[in-house]
Amino acid sequence: MAEFTMELNDEQKEVRDWLHGFAADVIRPAAAEWDEREETPWPVIQEAAKVGIYSLDFYAQQYFDASGLGIPVAMEELFWGDAGIALSIVGTGLAAVGVLANGTEEQIGTWIPQMYGDANDVKVAAFCSSEPDAGSDVSSMRTRAVYDEAKDEWVLNGTKTWATNGGIANVHVVVAVVDPDLGSKGHASFIIPPGTPGCSQGQKFKKHGIRASHTAEVILDDVRVPGSCLLGGKEKLDERLARAREKARKGGERVKNAAMATFEASRPAVGAMAVGTARAAYEVALEYATTREQFGRPIIANQGVAFQLADMRTQIDAARLLVWRASWMAINGKPFTAAEGSMSKLFASETAKKVTAQAIQILGGNGYTREYPVERMHRDAAIYTIFEGTSEIQRLVIARTLSGMPIR
Ligand SMILES: Cc1cc2nc3c(=O)[nH]c(=O)nc-3n(C[C@H](O)[C@H](O)[C@H](O)COP(=O)(O)OP(=O)(O)OC[C@H]3O[C@@H](n4cnc5c(N)ncnc54)[C@H](O)[C@@H]3O)c2cc1C
Repeated sequence: MAEFTMELNDEQKEVRDWLHGFAADVIRPAAAEWDEREETPWPVIQEAAKVGIYSLDFYAQQYFDASGLGIPVAMEELFWGDAGIALSIVGTGLAAVGVLANGTEEQIGTWIPQMYGDANDVKVAAFCSSEPDAGSDVSSMRTRAVYDEAKDEWVLNGTKTWATNGGIANVHVVVAVVDPDLGSKGHASFIIPPGTPGCSQGQKFKKHGIRASHTAEVILDDVRVPGSCLLGGKEKLDERLARAREKARKGGERVKNAAMATFEASRPAVGAMAVGTARAAYEVALEYATTREQFGRPIIANQGVAFQLADMRTQIDAARLLVWRASWMAINGKPFTAAEGSMSKLFASETAKKVTAQAIQILGGNGYTREYPVERMHRDAAIYTIFEGTSEIQRLVIARTLSGMPIR
């Protein structure tokens, strides 16, 4: 374990500065245009692919940074540039992680390259778990996967919703019910290969923020995939289901499972995105407050404005520290005994919402227009308290972890 330090090492600083340069020179200047167009910014993703930011290699390198800070630092910088575009760049990573976490080596080698494509022909991937009646309550999932033993194929039927890159993805990763009696323990993940008949895009959502990121329904209508598309393979699934049935028979309601630990480890990444958006808005507000004059002095000369900025910066730094702590815990295999991953996501996302609203206030009328980016940042920030578990769900997880009680 590395000695305790609050400083990034030289290599990390280099990566941070390189990403910051890309965010400042390529992402930020394109942000307003793609927000208005409400379309996937393919040319920007392509630029990111050319320089190596849009690739599995890049994520793997950040992920395996021994301090745990590779991913949070990268997320903060990219989302500082623009949240919608950055989500278009990192959205494929959600699906890739789904395969990395549950797939066999062969599945990883086959599908992840097809998720990214290459710099001349970029592709994206989608991770589809949420459904119209199964958002926070994942156990209500209805999409069904049934095994056709004669053909060694799985047949999937159902409707997924809110899928980032849903319908435009080359590869979709779909979570479906294989044993309805086991609740969320009876779920499994499947690869839907490019061009599979029966898999189509439903409604594309017109959103409040992160409008450069494509969000849509994915319809699965008698979708047939080979047995090899079950992530992890049939043998592993059968063993897992047998264990879950055994536990259910014994009546043990053990909810602390591997999936919970994975969420704790991945939630700080969303917290880092929120820190990026919050920092971006704070910087615009600070600059504005020091240059805008009213009553013959810069508005920051008023305590009412200066104290807001002091609070904004304090909360952003506190959020980053929570994110870094949880990321450090994850890479070092520390148990999340106080749901520190959820804590970091909860605090950072609420901070982003608050700070971006304060930034609008500090910019006055200008803050309320699309001439200045804080209006967009405020719309974007609202997503962080919703996806990857709402703030209420984070509080539930934290409270349950602290108390050991089945709080509802
Ligand atoms: C832009 C966007 C992108 C997304 N990307 C993806 C994606 O790529 N893949 C994917 O699978 N999903 C994705 N999602 C889905 C996202 O994870 C869900 O929207 C989220 O989990 C909340 O589910 P819901 O919208 O059904 O809200 P609901 O679960 O219906 O919640 C509604 C409200 O009730 C509250 N609530 C619910 N249960 C409780 C409770 N027990 N206690 C207290 N409050 C409660 C919630 O906190 C919330 O405030 C995305 C969503 C959006 C908006």
